[in-house]
Amino acid sequence: MQLDLTGKTALVTGSGRGMGKATATELAENGADVVINDIDDEVAEETATEIAELGVDTVGLPADVSDEAAVEAMVETATEELGQIDILVNNAGVGDAGPFLDEQYDDTFDLNLDVHLYGALNCTRAVVDGMVEEGYGKIVNFTSIHTKNGVGMSPAYDVGKYSLLGLTKSLALELGREGVRVNAVAPGWANTRMVEGFSDAVTEQILDNNPLGRFAEPEDVAQVVAFLAAPASDYVNGHELRVDGGQVPIDSWRLDT
Ligand code: ADP
Repeated sequence: MQLDLTGKTALVTGSGRGMGKATATELAENGADVVINDIDDEVAEETATEIAELGVDTVGLPADVSDEAAVEAMVETATEELGQIDILVNNAGVGDAGPFLDEQYDDTFDLNLDVHLYGALNCTRAVVDGMVEEGYGKIVNFTSIHTKNGVGMSPAYDVGKYSLLGLTKSLALELGREGVRVNAVAPGWANTRMVEGFSDAVTEQILDNNPLGRFAEPEDVAQVVAFLAAPASDYVNGHELRVDGGQVPIDSWRLDT
């Protein structure tokens, strides 16, 4: 199976920590040069320093993906330093959401759409011309367990991730013709800071509804992203690949805390 990414350059958004960091590490271990982006400049630099030890070229470039001008500048610098971006992983995400009836939902919807949808759009727009010119590219978007059936009490996040799934499906049809594959990876609940605040009751409900009985490790997800970024998956396009252990979504788990 062709998983070697030597000679390729990847941009992973939100890769200062969590699943983004694990993904950037996995891509580097498979030979890719990697651009580490995060809104948090400290973790972006730290992760870039760690990845440099794997012997690939890397650069930490802090930027808010929802800021179009900042993304353009980041991609310009990234291309100057590491060459044309061949692989884009839209991972940057926010967890802030709450029930429709309780939330100042205008702000929450704006934030979720800004980061999950417009962030991915800005990054895709900034790299796509180069990919089309090369006639080859891989874009992997992080959707979520939330696109399996929605997860109640969190509509802004549901909508943010469903919109990214819609973008994935649509761009796969248009860009596939240009040699650019667009797919999604849909993690279940993973051992990142997202689940750190869960109460024991919530954790128990989630794990009771997971056939594998555990959260995903960031590396479980990263390995699947590496597959979607590699030549081994060249005939996969417009697909959402779930990495959730067969998790059954829980509609109202936040109610039972
Ligand atoms: P997970 O790994 O579960 O997806 P994390 O919260 O650990 O969740 O990781 C998401 C990453 O995305 C964080 O490092 C966060 O700083 C980053 N991030 C959040 N918003 C933005 C943004 N607007 N631009 C770039 N990175 C962002």
